[in-house]
Amino acid sequence: MERIFLNVGLILSAVLCIIFIVRSIQKRTLLGKLLSRVLIMMLLSVVAYAVNYHSNSGSVMFFAVSTTHAAYDWMLFFMMEFTCEFIGRKRGGFIRTFFIVLCCIDSAALMTSPINHLSFSYAIREGNFNNVALVEPKAFFAVHMVVGMSMAIIVMALLCKGIIDNSRFYRLRYEIVGIVCILTIFFILIFIYDEYTVVDLSKLFMGVAAVSLSLTTFDYQPFRLLKNLQTYVDENMSDATIIYDNKGSILKINTKAKNLFKEDVINNKDKLMAALKLDEDTGRTIKTINDSTYEVVYKPEYDSKNLYVGSTFIFYDVTESLRRLEREHKVATIDSLTNCYNRAGFMENAEKFIEEHKIDGGYAVMVSGIRDFKGINGLYGTRAGDRVLKEIARHFTEYSYSFPMLYGRTAEGKFTCILPFDSLDRVVNELSHIQIPLEDEMAVNVNLCHGFVVMTDMTKPVEYYYEIALLALAECKKNVSNSVLEYSNAMAMEQRRTQTLIAEMHEAIEKEEFYIELQPQVDLKNNRVSGAEALVRWKHPTLGKIPPGEFIPLFEDNGFVSKVDLYVWEKAAETLKRFEEEGSYDGPISVNVSRVDVMSLDVVAEFERIIKKYGISPDKLHIEVTESACIGDRETLINMMDGLRERGFVVEIDDFGSGYSSLNALMELPFDVVKLDMDFMKENQSDEKSGVIVNAMAGMIHNLNAKIIVEGVESGESVKKALNIDGDAAQGYHYSKPVSVDEFVNFVKKFGK
Ligand code: C2E
Ligand code: CA
Ligand code: CA
Repeated sequence: MERIFLNVGLILSAVLCIIFIVRSIQKRTLLGKLLSRVLIMMLLSVVAYAVNYHSNSGSVMFFAVSTTHAAYDWMLFFMMEFTCEFIGRKRGGFIRTFFIVLCCIDSAALMTSPINHLSFSYAIREGNFNNVALVEPKAFFAVHMVVGMSMAIIVMALLCKGIIDNSRFYRLRYEIVGIVCILTIFFILIFIYDEYTVVDLSKLFMGVAAVSLSLTTFDYQPFRLLKNLQTYVDENMSDATIIYDNKGSILKINTKAKNLFKEDVINNKDKLMAALKLDEDTGRTIKTINDSTYEVVYKPEYDSKNLYVGSTFIFYDVTESLRRLEREHKVATIDSLTNCYNRAGFMENAEKFIEEHKIDGGYAVMVSGIRDFKGINGLYGTRAGDRVLKEIARHFTEYSYSFPMLYGRTAEGKFTCILPFDSLDRVVNELSHIQIPLEDEMAVNVNLCHGFVVMTDMTKPVEYYYEIALLALAECKKNVSNSVLEYSNAMAMEQRRTQTLIAEMHEAIEKEEFYIELQPQVDLKNNRVSGAEALVRWKHPTLGKIPPGEFIPLFEDNGFVSKVDLYVWEKAAETLKRFEEEGSYDGPISVNVSRVDVMSLDVVAEFERIIKKYGISPDKLHIEVTESACIGDRETLINMMDGLRERGFVVEIDDFGSGYSSLNALMELPFDVVKLDMDFMKENQSDEKSGVIVNAMAGMIHNLNAKIIVEGVESGESVKKALNIDGDAAQGYHYSKPVSVDEFVNFVKKFGK
């Protein structure tokens, strides 16, 4: 019985030691490494004892006892190291070296004792079945005891420190280690000093010790603390939670949840379900309770056998998210500058507006656009532009007080409104020419155009009316004298035509449907051809010859104009080359650069490439840029013009005197030629003062060493005027309309070059 009990116990101890040695090593931490060393020494002592117990040879038994005691030394030493690390103290230093030396000396004395009996001599104790060797202390044994006990005391002291220094939640781990140590030492001492037994209980206990040490080191969790913290987390999270058991009684509830409903509702799951209007099939609902909005998620729980075990309610507080959504929605629908609806907001509210005002027939959708809003921004600055928008919005707000009206800023410089047809005249009259004061006593004259359509078919969405009112506006803008235009079928046809042009533009380039005409420029001094402007035409297979005035603005909007321009520039260069080879004309050809090109192309590089390709001199290519070409980014425009001039191209300012051009701005630009529009002079002819201004301007341009080409010269009268301002050359129907390249050659022959 004794033997079986002991053998099983020893095997169990050894196996447990091995398992936890492996586990500790696998942790790959310093703590694991140190613990594994302690356990290895325990294992060694267990094995040595087993050998002692089973062997019958005296010397083997003696060595086994010596080994056991040496293992105790190192077990305590490693325990000391482990405890240091366990309580978070630094290891090493003098004490460590001191004990290593002592343990070495003591181990040597112990291991040689079978021969020299330095530490002890041996006695054999007889058991019922087996004998074991025991120690009979000799002089040096005292050293062994002192070394061992001092290490044990140090271990205990360290553990006490761990207990004192740590919160009560963490003390248990040190307490467990301490108890394990005390018991181990206690059992060892019993075996040494007990007179009768051959059974070493300490070896049986070592399995238990291995398990306890390993578990406290690696698996200990301060459960009480965790529970406390978990409760704290539960209470302080914004979500209220309730857990019911399978009978519908509360298992757990946090304070937040307690405050949501009356107690009798909460205590009864069915009542709660009813209050939330939830049933077993709908697991989710939105509920507003005391100013807060919750998304309630109900979930019944089933176990693996599909038995109902309980249910959970989580009340996610979505109040903030909803508010944020509302704010975001506001941002998305309100124009922050003018504080009125933006396009999305306008469209969203249109339906409601129509419903509320029972609109049928008597209402119109009107889009009002600022004429040359870009020009205003460019000339007066974006702050002035903002002022203008705010002022217009203010007007609309005022109207909305006098009659039912929905309005919004639906595009950069465009306002859209739904208003009673009767009130339309008033708005158009008052909002077509307005003067908006700026800072510094300046004022800007703003012209607005309006396109409208009467809402006749209420089954059509407002978007539809908006789109066609936009068409009317676009049409209205084409004519300077218009300020309002009603949508007509002709516009729809035009719209279709526009769409066709855009749809077919890419193919047109590939099929070479674009070509150039040349309009001669005549020297006013000697009446000879001094230049020509290349003007693009589109020979459409079904629509016929389309003038650039129709497609260039479309292409400027979608960027395609740059492709057309590159094509025209090449054609012009090719024509120049042809003229040179034929010797038919040796003057320059001017080409147009659109404002879109300035931003989208490296214009200088493109022209350089082209003249290289055709081998022509740069001064043969004149480049026309409108002065408003680079609103907002004048620097890019100036750099481009400088670049062109540096490389020998001639730079012309086109359409000077139209739009919001200003002399100041002109003076900033580097140019060689200014093209003055005849219209510009016409407008001013009645006014003597203005005539003076035009003359002064022409003088200034000449002073800058630039030439003047007068454009739009249609009659002998105009020629005189052009001569009056000392113009250098003239271009216009008076001499010739734009003609084909061949006709141009004939013209040159006739006129002389
Ligand atoms: P623009 O650059 O000011 O060109 C002059 C326009 O005035 C031409 O119209 C020309 O035919 C017209 N014109 C010439 N003499 C007279 C006259 O005595 N009286 C009147 N009323 N008009 C005259 P077109 O060819 O229809 O071109 C219109 C505009 O299209 C051009 O104005 C220019 O801005 C643009 N454009 C033409 N070709 C190109 C091009 O290749 N590229 C770019 N980006 N724009 C071009
Ligand atoms: Ca031009
Ligand atoms: Ca022009």
